[in-house]
Amino acid sequence: MLVHREKEKMLNNNDENNAAGDGDGAELNLGAPPPFKIADIRNAIPKHCWVKDSWRSISYVFRDVVVVFGFAVVAAYFNNWFLWPLYWIAQGTMFWAIFVLGHDCGHGSFSDNPKLNNIVGHLLHSSILVPYHGWRISHRTHHQNHGHIENDESWHPLSEKIYNSLDFMTKKLRFTFPFPLLAYPIYLWTRSPGKSGSHYHPDSGLFTPKEKNDVVTSTFCWLAMVVLLLELSFVMGPIQVLKLYGVPYVIFVMWLDLVTYLHHHGHDEKLPWYRGEEWSYLRGGLTTIDRDYGLLNNIHHDIGTHVIHHLFPQIPHYHLIEATEAAKPVLGKYYREPKKSGPLPLYIFSILLNSLKKDHYVSDTGDVVYYQTDPKHL
Ligand SMILES: [Zn+2]
Ligand SMILES: [Zn+2]
Repeated sequence: MLVHREKEKMLNNNDENNAAGDGDGAELNLGAPPPFKIADIRNAIPKHCWVKDSWRSISYVFRDVVVVFGFAVVAAYFNNWFLWPLYWIAQGTMFWAIFVLGHDCGHGSFSDNPKLNNIVGHLLHSSILVPYHGWRISHRTHHQNHGHIENDESWHPLSEKIYNSLDFMTKKLRFTFPFPLLAYPIYLWTRSPGKSGSHYHPDSGLFTPKEKNDVVTSTFCWLAMVVLLLELSFVMGPIQVLKLYGVPYVIFVMWLDLVTYLHHHGHDEKLPWYRGEEWSYLRGGLTTIDRDYGLLNNIHHDIGTHVIHHLFPQIPHYHLIEATEAAKPVLGKYYREPKKSGPLPLYIFSILLNSLKKDHYVSDTGDVVYYQTDPKHL
């Protein structure tokens, strides 16, 4: 019954879309095409925001690597059970910061030199067990298809049919906190429900034949890191490696899943997802969500400025705040100002919990659809 009502609401939304414009003062229909073009946003962003400064990018790597080793040395030196939990959270957050810099390399926004991007990207991502090219390519697919139900990659909605085909346990784990925050390693191995292929396998459907060699290289680098961790386990003992590396790795995975999920879910109003003719790069990108992470914004390289990053991934992270400010007058109501965070972004957990309770699947049909709730989900 509830599902029926949701469907009716969605169909009404679709009808409105055809008639809706962004009239002054009129309620904005978020699923309607915007009155501006992507070139208008591009033109509003100052020229210098597009310039990549390799030395500046390297200085962030230097900063993060020094902090990571500093934390590890201090934690190992004191080896104190009061300090370990603090270390795990701080170091896991630094692993996440390292990931974001590797993400810049993957987009080519780290430097204009592709070799430098690939070398630094491999060093950074392999060190936190991410297959650099494998993920870079699937992340590019995510950007190129954001907001598209079938073609988007990673945290896109499941269609009702795929949702219903999931076994009880998968459904439970996918929508019950904290399990979705542990999804990333599983996603790397098997992708999302309804899709097949692995980020480690060159023959995976994620990659074109030309990309195979790149994928093999990254899988080898990933394997080299696994071997290094095993060797360290022999040298300093597995418990010490678990304390210094294993637990921070899990915290990093939780950061990654939390941030990437909330960039595409959990807005107060339901945001549209598209199919077919209704999807466009601009309309898909406009449904992404910026987030404020308080004191952490600087630490994780302003990853919360997601809307402009999604539309223009070639802009380096250190210009995203300025680029976002410059784009706001063009975006108007299509830009959703993020909720202000306190020093620590604790508010995001209630957004996550709420979304996991409500955002389960989208209709199998329709070109502009909205999340619906499984009434049987507890
Ligand atoms: Zn995204
Ligand atoms: Zn990106």
